Amino acid sequence: MCNPVTMWRVSPGVPEQPLQESPARPTGGTALFGSLYRTVSLLDQLRRAVVLDRLAYDPGGLRRYQDMQVARLVRHAAARVPFYREKYRAAGIDPDSIRTADDLAHLPLTSRADLRAAFPHGLIPDGTSPDNQFLVETTGSTGEPVRLFKDWPALCAIAAWSSPVMLRRWWGVWGLRLMTLLLRQEHSVEEAVVAALPRFLLRVHAGDALASPEEHLEDIRRRRPDIIVTYPTVLKTLATRIVEDGARIPQPRLLATSAEMLDVHARRLIGQAFTGRLVNLYASTEAGFIAVECLAGRGLHVNSPRVIVEVLQDGRPAPPGEPGDVVVTDLTSVGCPIIRYQGLGDVARWSPDPCPCGRSFPLLDVVEGRRIDAFVLPDGRVLHPFTLSHAMVHFTGIRRFQIVQEAIDRVRVLIVPNGQAGADLGGLVAAEFARLLGRGVHVTVDLVDAIPAPPNAHFPSTVRSLVSRPHPLD
Ligand SMILES: [Zn+2]
Repeated sequence: MCNPVTMWRVSPGVPEQPLQESPARPTGGTALFGSLYRTVSLLDQLRRAVVLDRLAYDPGGLRRYQDMQVARLVRHAAARVPFYREKYRAAGIDPDSIRTADDLAHLPLTSRADLRAAFPHGLIPDGTSPDNQFLVETTGSTGEPVRLFKDWPALCAIAAWSSPVMLRRWWGVWGLRLMTLLLRQEHSVEEAVVAALPRFLLRVHAGDALASPEEHLEDIRRRRPDIIVTYPTVLKTLATRIVEDGARIPQPRLLATSAEMLDVHARRLIGQAFTGRLVNLYASTEAGFIAVECLAGRGLHVNSPRVIVEVLQDGRPAPPGEPGDVVVTDLTSVGCPIIRYQGLGDVARWSPDPCPCGRSFPLLDVVEGRRIDAFVLPDGRVLHPFTLSHAMVHFTGIRRFQIVQEAIDRVRVLIVPNGQAGADLGGLVAAEFARLLGRGVHVTVDLVDAIPAPPNAHFPSTVRSLVSRPHPLD
């Protein structure tokens, strides 16, 4: 059984079109029909992405497009999605009064706790079933994992905006062999995209970020990817191996990193081993692609036809150049709307100057984010931070957490439990961490009421190492 999933049918320059129903995803049909449907959906989203990306040179057109999308999204959410319907009713919001992107400011914010409480049926439109959407889950690097859904068009939109066609538009690099070295997680957006799309259109080798550097290098030699998408930690580790051991690899043309800060130090280190173009993406499970780095080097352009980003200080727009909390609205996700979501846990500031590249999409500088550290262990292993944060996702009863490596052989886990925590939570977490960290590391688990943010930070980092480890290439 499969209900149709609601989707937008809009293109810039088209003044008004009603919401239409997409064709139902064929669950009972033939594989050929399913493949055809997926192909048509992806090609349609690809066409839209190319058309909409041109709005980067048409600020008036972009504004009109965003206004139209916001008005429809809010009307749709208020009418059909229980969580937003109740939230807006309680706040006395008339959805018809939200007509422009600026009007978003009149709506209440959506938190991680909101999404967790409304999961699953409160997040999706009345009359639709979670079974017809893809369940996705954050990696837990925020300390409070969130589960939500992506419908078929939303997944196709993510695939289209991250396709080689768009990578070429942004960075002038063409390549069809993509390799991802990301966290292999059953319910990640990447896994959903790779699993859902026809392989002849989007051929991706999905590697595992947590595999050893030797395996990564062997994979790169064997598959000769044009483009690698991974985390800075992975590239830094590979760069160290390549420089120290003199290892030779076929050089990818583009290295795209995400999820961690790509600072000057990381760029320098990676640049010593890789000759391909290195760019930074700002993406999230909740809202997909948010911003992509500009080659002019002034920051990341918001993917304005896909998302609207706000940067708030105490609930008000932060002045250009000043840091604030990132709040995002996803204009493409109709099956599980994300409107004024404040749960990303990132801090950014707007560039005060227009970008010399000529694109008008706003320039964002992500200054502080879901920053997490890798742990170097007594046995010499480098443990990727997602190994630890991801382990926490599967325990019931955790509201927040922080994992601190206090010394090379000592790790402390702080947990703020919620009402569902069992009496044995601390012991279970301690046993799992002892397994992951291996012999020679002493693990302490403390249940606490709150985890304070350090001075000058908006929130505590979730995976932190206090062990100073001068890098061999520094
Ligand atoms: Zn630019």
